[in-house]
Amino acid sequence: MNCDNCNYKLEEKRFYCLTCDVSLCERCELLTAHEHPMLKVPSNYSQKQLKDIKMIYESQKSSSRDLDKKIELLKNVLGNTYPEEFYHKFANQYQYMVLKDFGIKLHEIFG
Ligand SMILES: [Zn+2]
Ligand SMILES: [Zn+2]
Repeated sequence: MNCDNCNYKLEEKRFYCLTCDVSLCERCELLTAHEHPMLKVPSNYSQKQLKDIKMIYESQKSSSRDLDKKIELLKNVLGNTYPEEFYHKFANQYQYMVLKDFGIKLHEIFG
């Protein structure tokens, strides 16, 4: 996978815009003032995982009754390896997150 701006090969991480479906390397993210906040995600994230992230992010607009659905989506994206409380906590938190914070949070999880 390559950077959509400079075509440089994306190493471990890339910056992804959920709005434009664009992936940038760290350098381009720094140098180009992209108009939307970008998510920092592992480069090997599949298109499906990115779609799920978008769904998770958009589902924060819906009510907390959909908590089970959010948890299911989170498990799709993050994998099943975390303790059950983790998904609950994260699902509860991201209702109040802006996209950038969401990306930072994901970044914390994946290092
Ligand atoms: Zn680049
Ligand atoms: Zn964008």
